[in-house]
Amino acid sequence: MEAITTAMDTTLDIIESETGFLVGGEYGGNAVEVARTDSGLQCQCFIAQVSHDDCEHIRAVREYIASVPLSLERPMLSQADADYYLSKLGELDTTIAANMESAEEQVKRIKLWLEVETGKIQQKKNYYLLALDNWMHMNEFSTKQLVAGTLKVRSQQPEIKINDEAKVLMDERFVRIVPEKRALDKTALRKYCMDTGEEIPGIEIILKPHKFCYKLNGGV
Ligand SMILES: [Zn+2]
Repeated sequence: MEAITTAMDTTLDIIESETGFLVGGEYGGNAVEVARTDSGLQCQCFIAQVSHDDCEHIRAVREYIASVPLSLERPMLSQADADYYLSKLGELDTTIAANMESAEEQVKRIKLWLEVETGKIQQKKNYYLLALDNWMHMNEFSTKQLVAGTLKVRSQQPEIKINDEAKVLMDERFVRIVPEKRALDKTALRKYCMDTGEEIPGIEIILKPHKFCYKLNGGV
């Protein structure tokens, strides 16, 4: 990795997009984003936050723009450059994976803490709930408005659970015939549209942009 980095020219260390520039770090460090804003170039690095002078990243971008003013003249990527960028994607994916693993570990601890604390509080709540439920029943209230709020008791419908459907179906009183249903044959519709390109009444064909994807070699 070191060898590739040192062999690279400075233009490769800057990637341009509509929103800004990604400036590669020296000695394989983290790349930093310099954004294009209405008030000019803005860098996220520490130096840029604390200083009024341009940081090294903004200086590098200015140099880059000055050396190749027209975007048409910007250098083309070689295959080796593309390969290097792909390896950079891999590094970023590894960082994301490590961050997620760390966050999940923390989330697990937080969830356990929340579970334990909620359990303790719920135990206390149960005393109040039981006392109030009993009080409502003793007084045969269904609704009671109090200063602190309103209590309600609602009787619930019993649930009918079917354990053996075949057995129930043998009793003709509880059988109904479901009529044949008309449903869309989506496979046939898709094939027709793809073959003819025709938008039949009632549909809309939405074209989608191509998808770019990548897959990295190695176990990382
Ligand atoms: Zn900076």
